[in-house]
Amino acid sequence: MLLGVLVVSPTFSQKKLTKSKTAIVASVEKHQAALIDLSDQIWALAETAFEENKSAKLLADYAEQQGFKVERGVAGMPTAFVATYGSGKPVISVLGEFDALPGISQKAQPTKAFLNEGAAGHGCGHNLFGAGSLGAAIAIKELMESGKISGTIKFFGTPSEEKYFGKIWMVRAGLWDDVDVNISWHPSASMEADVQSSLALVDFKVEFFGQAAHASADPWNGRSASDALEIYTNGINYYREHVKPTVRMHYHIQDGGQVVNVVPDYSRLWMRVRDTKRSGMMPVYERVMKMAEGAAIMANVDYKVSLISGIYEVLVNRSGGEVMQGNLELLGSISYTDEETAFGKKIQEVTGKEQIGMDSEIKPLEATKEHPGGGSTDVGDVSWNVANINLGVTTAPKDTPWHSWAVVACGGMSIGHKGMIYAAKAMAMTMTDLFEKPELVKMVKAEYVERKGDEVYEAIIPEGPPPINESK
Ligand SMILES: [Zn+2]
Repeated sequence: MLLGVLVVSPTFSQKKLTKSKTAIVASVEKHQAALIDLSDQIWALAETAFEENKSAKLLADYAEQQGFKVERGVAGMPTAFVATYGSGKPVISVLGEFDALPGISQKAQPTKAFLNEGAAGHGCGHNLFGAGSLGAAIAIKELMESGKISGTIKFFGTPSEEKYFGKIWMVRAGLWDDVDVNISWHPSASMEADVQSSLALVDFKVEFFGQAAHASADPWNGRSASDALEIYTNGINYYREHVKPTVRMHYHIQDGGQVVNVVPDYSRLWMRVRDTKRSGMMPVYERVMKMAEGAAIMANVDYKVSLISGIYEVLVNRSGGEVMQGNLELLGSISYTDEETAFGKKIQEVTGKEQIGMDSEIKPLEATKEHPGGGSTDVGDVSWNVANINLGVTTAPKDTPWHSWAVVACGGMSIGHKGMIYAAKAMAMTMTDLFEKPELVKMVKAEYVERKGDEVYEAIIPEGPPPINESK
């Protein structure tokens, strides 16, 4: 039986903040203007994977100004950093992301209009993610200074979540080895002490090497790398019928030849396989790697398969989720002005959704689904190495298409800001519970150990440094 079914003592029901939590809320509010400014600067910079130099610097510098000891360029990534304050046990950490998505630049307005044509945008709200988490870490640091709690607080600046998954290299570098509990959040279209897993995935590159020739004059001298690529993707698409419904396979053709009158001697695609569990994904991964050989034989070309990276599904922690849930109930829902509601409804109108504005209602803690849908996150790898608590906070209207201009728009104005400040408070209050009640840390860690079982974590990345230069 999982320990997760144990009930955390319901001291939260009194709906009154303790002295510590009152101090936490005041602390976050004291830094509110600075946190919003950090978030807005990162929003405007919109730097993509491994290029988040200014964004990482903004967060790291602010942490340093607040008295954190900051170590920059950790795990071989110039934009990865750790900010630490305090000493001794427990060690609690919080994650901050800050990378943007290419091509979805957008103004902070409810209709589609780019800010800088062709530029990136924060379509996953990571500008809020990083600044909000830092706000939580600072509130804990100030509570430590007041002498109410003791231990260590760490803020992890985690780059490149949208491509290559920077946290995996940080995990492999052992950065969470001394941490007792990690906390994370993600901008969302609803409020949730998150007790759902995510999908495991693996990314790899398939390349075919043939021989060039004139496409009309002497095609018999050519061996086509793009023929191999077409045969390969056909194989993948036939295979779809025979995989479990939880499996997802996607590919992106990166090079299919350059011109029509040359038999292409080179082709390349980026291949991705997902499943709700890493154990289900691995056999599919093996099979589609083998297909590359089959395609190469048929087109009489050479081939190469290279692992890029792969992430684990999130290891859920319900005991931690219950502590977070208690704090969401204490904080209540977010209230919005008429202008904000109108902004949200306009986005819903433009994106063809029901015009109901934002959903920030606190719902009861959900049952954990055996096979969740949705995407993947490199928080998964962290969660297999340390007990992890997740949170989702409303930063966009209900049903907003994610990774889109609409999320960028909300992340640059008060709907996003409110969610970020709320997340900072909820996470800092949850960390306060952990610092104040060692039995909670014990319970959350025990559930982690039980859920992990015998599984030995092995990072799904190649040997050597992170692919910093390949992202350019
Ligand atoms: Zn994201």
